[in-house]
Amino acid sequence: MALILFIQSCKSSETFSGYSYDPEGVTDTQDRDIQEQPKRTIGFLSDGVWISNEFEGARANDVFRVDEFHYIIRIDPEISPINNSPWYGFRIWSNETRSVTVELEYTDGRQRYLPKKSFDDGLSWANIDSSNYRVDLETGNGILHLTTENDPLWISAQEVFTTRDFRMWKEDLMSLPFIQSQVIGTSHLGRSINQIKISEHLDEPLKGVIFIYGRQHPPEIPGFLVGLKFIETLTADTDLAIQFRKYFDVWAFPLMNPDGADGGHWRTNAAGVDLNRDWLFFNQPETAAVRNAVLKIQLRSDRKPFYSIDFHSTGRTIFYPISRNIDTFPHLFAYRWAESIQQALPDTELLVQPFDVVSPIAKNWSFRTFGIDGVTFEVSDEMSGNMLDEFASKSAETFMRLMIEEFENYIDSN
Ligand SMILES: [Zn+2]
Repeated sequence: MALILFIQSCKSSETFSGYSYDPEGVTDTQDRDIQEQPKRTIGFLSDGVWISNEFEGARANDVFRVDEFHYIIRIDPEISPINNSPWYGFRIWSNETRSVTVELEYTDGRQRYLPKKSFDDGLSWANIDSSNYRVDLETGNGILHLTTENDPLWISAQEVFTTRDFRMWKEDLMSLPFIQSQVIGTSHLGRSINQIKISEHLDEPLKGVIFIYGRQHPPEIPGFLVGLKFIETLTADTDLAIQFRKYFDVWAFPLMNPDGADGGHWRTNAAGVDLNRDWLFFNQPETAAVRNAVLKIQLRSDRKPFYSIDFHSTGRTIFYPISRNIDTFPHLFAYRWAESIQQALPDTELLVQPFDVVSPIAKNWSFRTFGIDGVTFEVSDEMSGNMLDEFASKSAETFMRLMIEEFENYIDSN
């Protein structure tokens, strides 16, 4: 078995050079220079309109006035070429109520995310009305018609969720007695990388461990939020979750790219690297910190790796499991789990697209290291609100039910 795993991991470095949507050289994960985003507020006195990127999670690289109450905001990625995940985020206000037109013009990208708006400094978010938004198919620009007032209107590709918001979420969760949080390393710019452990019944002689990775890609907010809600559901005071925690610990790394999240990046960390292509060489401090934290399980004979989940977002809600012909433990779990979610939520379209294990991503490293099954869990870009909450809690409940069975089978057969 060890030999087979070794051969597969060698093969990966030789053959995988990126998915179809990746830029060339994506698997070279050494540091490169990124384009800094100047932070400033630009005002047009004759119109009485101001546009600002002076907040965490913002992205608006430059602003030009085209005409009265009509502006172009240029949105640049941190490196180029890059995957088309064009994050944008700005605040706009005016000295009187105004109708303004804003064009989002992308360098090396096209409009992708439906604009979200907030009137309360980023606390609550909603889609902008579809009648006030269109995409210019020729240029790929997004064109927004906005009503501005003296209080800033926030516009963003997805709801803004920074490291500060994450810290508040984490502190809430830590009021539970069985949650531990630990700083396992720091990012390039010195932000904390956190591990959150769910661990109850500490004296059980044997428990399974579930690894949860998240937010390697900064704009993938729906996947990130499903991940947080998923973790909350595992910590709930329900019979199901209590039973689950008797059998399992959870080691979670929900926000792996804090510099990218606060910097309003499209894809990479502060060294211009796609973290989910660095799970072979671990050149980056963020991925290395998580690997080192996970590998500590090798010191624990009373804890057995059982599963890995890596939360992301893309155009559809989709599971990327490991191909059926590859022997994982627990075998084919992702397929059974997807079916179970589909039964619980028949109106949600959940696609399943298997992959081999050659790419240097989190799920494949977890498989190569421990032989465990796993899934890259992609949530639709436009899932939000109640639907997102329901999807996350149902995903977690079905997961716990199936995992409890797996654990009991494992104990019976050993
Ligand atoms: Zn992703």
